[in-house]
Amino acid sequence: MLLTVIMTMHENKLLELANGIKYMAPQIFLDYDGTLVPIIKDPEINQADCELIGLLSSIARSYETYIVTGRDVREITSFIGDYNIIGLHGATFHINGETLVVPGFHEYEELSLKLYDENYYLVNKFPGLRIYRKSGGVLFHTGNITSKSIRKAVMEEVKSLALQYNMEMYTGIDICELRIPGVNKGRAIKMVRNANRLAIIIGDDATDEDAFQMNPDAITIKVGNQDTLARYSISYSSVRSFLRALITEP
Ligand SMILES: [Mg+2]
Repeated sequence: MLLTVIMTMHENKLLELANGIKYMAPQIFLDYDGTLVPIIKDPEINQADCELIGLLSSIARSYETYIVTGRDVREITSFIGDYNIIGLHGATFHINGETLVVPGFHEYEELSLKLYDENYYLVNKFPGLRIYRKSGGVLFHTGNITSKSIRKAVMEEVKSLALQYNMEMYTGIDICELRIPGVNKGRAIKMVRNANRLAIIIGDDATDEDAFQMNPDAITIKVGNQDTLARYSISYSSVRSFLRALITEP
């Protein structure tokens, strides 16, 4: 993967960028964890705060907006309300109140349940590990594991399950996950984008790099200062200022 180091944008440059594109009716694609809310050790309680609820509702009134997340639709809508959602890293599409899934989704949904049941015992084998059942995936959360060697052992275990059951292994901040092969945020965003229309894509994690890479014509924005394929980088604390600057309503 070709990596480029991009300077984190200063706030006034960000506002300049927002002002330059706000009247071009861009489609907006926003990651959730680490982008709109901080990463926390207990992801199951990472609800949106009041400020974010208000901000999202203003953005969605001004622009065609999608939340693009690894979470499933039911969970993310319980945190933020009913918005357009691209869920499970691009395996489910909840658009204008209707939910669609990629072909083969239900087979992977069954397989994921089986893998969850058969491997839940790993929480006893690896102290601190938490395992979550997702529809079409299994999430292994390592945020409470302090030992590096135990984290590595969890990764090895998940890698071997991925190989054995032909699922894709994804690793991110404090997590590794079994997910449906061939599905990623980049492909999903491309599917819902309108041709020749500007898009803004903001995200913080490895899965968002797929979105940046596959949509090089978009305004791609990485949250954080790690190497990225995005055109711009901003700090977590600047994301909301940027979104606020995009709002066109009085
Ligand atoms: Mg994220």
